[in-house]
Amino acid sequence: MNRPFNFSAGPAAMPLEVLQQAASEMTNWPDAQGRPSGMGVMEMSHRGKEFISIYEQAEADLRELLAVPANFKILFMQGGGLAENAIVPLNLSRGETVDVVVTGSWSEKSYKEAAKYCTPHLAATGADTHFTTLPAPAQWQLSPGAQYVHVCTNETIHGVEFHTLPDLKALGSDAPLVIDFSSHVLSRSVDWARVGVAFGGAQKNIGPAGVTLVVVREDLLGHALKVCPSAFNYKTVADNGSMYNTPPTYSIYMAGLTFQWLKRQGGVAAMEQRNIAKAKLLYEFLDSSSFYSNKVAHDCRSRMNVPFFLADESRNDAFLTGAKAAGLLQLKGHKSVGGMRASIYNAMPIEGVQALVSYMQAFEKTQA
Ligand code: PMP
Repeated sequence: MNRPFNFSAGPAAMPLEVLQQAASEMTNWPDAQGRPSGMGVMEMSHRGKEFISIYEQAEADLRELLAVPANFKILFMQGGGLAENAIVPLNLSRGETVDVVVTGSWSEKSYKEAAKYCTPHLAATGADTHFTTLPAPAQWQLSPGAQYVHVCTNETIHGVEFHTLPDLKALGSDAPLVIDFSSHVLSRSVDWARVGVAFGGAQKNIGPAGVTLVVVREDLLGHALKVCPSAFNYKTVADNGSMYNTPPTYSIYMAGLTFQWLKRQGGVAAMEQRNIAKAKLLYEFLDSSSFYSNKVAHDCRSRMNVPFFLADESRNDAFLTGAKAAGLLQLKGHKSVGGMRASIYNAMPIEGVQALVSYMQAFEKTQA
C-alpha cells in the first residue's frame, strides 16, 4: 500500500504494519496461539484474561525496550502530558519548592501548572534566545531542598532536545529529575540512573492518544498530597497494576503492537541510529540552503521535530499545497512559531525524509 508521508507532530503517523494488524484483529482478537477470542479488544473487560495478557506483554516489552530497571514501576495512565503537569506536583511536591527548567512551550506550561500545587522556581530559561538554545545545566539555579527538578527533554514545538540528561548529583542537587519525554520516548535510550520520573503521552512515538506512560522510581511512591485524586495517585495506580480505574484498553493494545514492531526493527538502539541518520539528512540540507533555515543551535537540535522556515514566508501556502500534492502531509508549523515543522518520529522511514528533501529542492527551483 502506497501511503503519503505524514509529518504530523501528534497524533502522528504509525507503522503501517501496526495499523494493518489492528485492522485484521478489530472484530476478533486471537491470542498468542492464534485462538480466536470472539471479541475485539475494545469489547474486552480490562480484568479478563485476554486483556490482562495484552497488558502484561505491553508492559514487559516496554521494560525491555527502554531497559527500565526493576526499581521503577511502569504505569499506564490517562490525561496526557498536560495532566501530568498537575499529577507530578500532586505526587511529588509535598506542597513545597520544585525547580523547573523552561526550554519551550511545554515546560512553560509545566511551570505554570505546578504553581497550583506548590512553589515552582524557574531554575533556568531559554526564553532569551526564543528557545533556540538550551540553558547549560552548570548555569541552572537549583534550589536547595527542591522536591524535584522538571525538564522537558524534547520540546515538540521549538525543536530543542537534550542529547544528554542532566546529572543533578554532579550539580549538587539530591532532587529527583522529572522528565517529560512525550515526543521522543523510544527514539533513544534513557539513562535511568539520572531519572526519578519519566512521563509521556503516546500519540507521537507510540500509538493513539489516550494513554500516558509514567515510569516512576519506587521510592517516590506514597508521598502524594491529600487532595491528589485517587486515580492520579502513583502509589494507588502502581498497587493496582494500572487498573485502579478502567485503563484506556485500546490505546494500550495499540501501544503494545508498536512495541512489538519496534522489537522487530532491532529495538531502541537500532531506531536511534535511524533517527540520527534521518535528522542528519534534513538538517544538513537545511544548513546548505539559503532558501530554507532552521534556527536551533546545533548542539540541541531535536531529532524528532524539525521546525524550519522559508526565507520568503509569502511562499508558505504554495509550499504546503505543493507538499500535499507530492504526498507530504501536515508540514505546517505550530501557530506559536510559524513556518514549517517536520516531525520525523520512529514510524517515519528515511524514504520519507528523502522525499521531503527532494520536494524542497524542487520547490526552490520552481520559485527561482
Ligand atoms: N509535553 C510535550 C513535550 C508535548 O509534545 C505535548 C503534546 N504535544 C504535551 C506535553 C501535552 O500532551 P497532551 O496534549 O497529551 O496532554
